[in-house]
Amino acid sequence: MRLSRYFLPVLKETPSEAQIVSHRYMLRAGMIKQQSAGIYSWLPLGFKVLRKIENIVHEEQMRAGHIPMQMPTIQSADLWRESNRYDGYGEEMLRMQDRHGRDMLFSPTAEEMVTDIFRAHVNSYKDLPLTLYQIQWKFRDEIRPRFGVMRGREFYMKDGYNFDLTKEDALHAYNRHLVSYLRTYERMGLQAIPMRADSGPIGGDYTHEFLVLAETGESEVFYDSEVTDLTFGDRDIDYDNVAQCQGVMDEFTARYARTDETHDAEAFDEVPEDRRRIARGIEVGQIFYFGTTYSDKLGATVVDKDQKQVSVHMGSHGIGVSRLLGAIIEASHDDKGIIWPEGVTPFHCGIVNLKQGDEEADAACEALYDQLTNAGLEPLYDDRNERAGGKFATMDLIGLPWRITVGPRGLKNGVVELTCRRTGENEELTPEAAVAKVVEIFKPHHVRGL
Ligand code: ATP
Ligand code: MG
Repeated sequence: MRLSRYFLPVLKETPSEAQIVSHRYMLRAGMIKQQSAGIYSWLPLGFKVLRKIENIVHEEQMRAGHIPMQMPTIQSADLWRESNRYDGYGEEMLRMQDRHGRDMLFSPTAEEMVTDIFRAHVNSYKDLPLTLYQIQWKFRDEIRPRFGVMRGREFYMKDGYNFDLTKEDALHAYNRHLVSYLRTYERMGLQAIPMRADSGPIGGDYTHEFLVLAETGESEVFYDSEVTDLTFGDRDIDYDNVAQCQGVMDEFTARYARTDETHDAEAFDEVPEDRRRIARGIEVGQIFYFGTTYSDKLGATVVDKDQKQVSVHMGSHGIGVSRLLGAIIEASHDDKGIIWPEGVTPFHCGIVNLKQGDEEADAACEALYDQLTNAGLEPLYDDRNERAGGKFATMDLIGLPWRITVGPRGLKNGVVELTCRRTGENEELTPEAAVAKVVEIFKPHHVRGL
């Protein structure tokens, strides 16, 4: 993409309504525009990152054997009356009527609808296990939408639902989700810690929230500092292997890590004092096993081996896809702007032309642009007729992890400059070597772009 032809409405002033850094930078970098409280347009740069995150979530869900689908955002109230959640859901549910006076709502989640699909089409234990998921817009009429996309009213969420014959099978699905979530967040450059949480209105005995540590997080968290040493890395996981998934689950949840809702002061005291941490965190996902609550109410049964009708065991699993943009920025920025992790960056590499209009510099930039593009990467070439200082400030603000700077002086010596956004380190390289290095860096991070 050439910046002169892109739509990047960068703001010079810091918007006064933004209280936290991710919100400020998302507005300043021209990623989002608020349209009403908690409702945003996703401008091209923000939309690009949203799609990158969404694609990682899809890849990791499908790797775990989960099946993508899409359900409507507008649902009939009748289904929610069947599960007894229509009245109980309260003011967070956006309710409306169609022209025939039928009660409708904008889906805040989809346990009812997916169970309705299941009961219509699945009759036998032979069709289990089954996990369906979608990535779809949700609406919750939050009392205090704030912090930009972190607590919106309209937000983008991955919601998945497992259907299993037995509790053991459903707990394997639970563990499988935990493993796939750890892997998902790590690919986004995030450390998200699974913490034992409160199951709230969904009910059930098993639930973990995934929290990214950040001072601006809304949840208070208590943990053993050893949990932050754990990483998923590039281990090979067979998602059908029950013992292996259970092993990862045990390893990651053996140490004390809880949100304030389930915090147990006595148990926390058993953690060695120098490892006890109290901090704040951003909830970026949650997994639940809730047994047969919905299948009993909505009649989601299958026949088992003995031809007996049994309710299926279910769980639901959410990832806050749009919230993740905020969480990533909270975890990765400096005073100049965003620093995107390689896995989610909107463009892989910036190209800054220090002297637009200089024949040699222009030609060198065009050549770099073509070489990076031909290697399957997306460069952002700042080809505007602007001063170098302004170009650097824009690149730093929008946070591309790598930048190649091209100027007549360097070209005389046959070199360009490759700069790492995170460390600020510069390296003088031939243009070919700069391209080769950037291509190498992104090899493990290949995610479909848009
Ligand atoms: P919270 O406690 O933050 O209100 P929740 O527990 O009600 O969230 P879930 O039903 O678990 O949310 O939804 C799954 C994920 O969707 C959450 O982990 C979070 O990342 C994201 N999410 C929930 N509410 C919002 C919101 N208002 N804006 C943006 N993301 C949200
Ligand atoms: Mg939650």
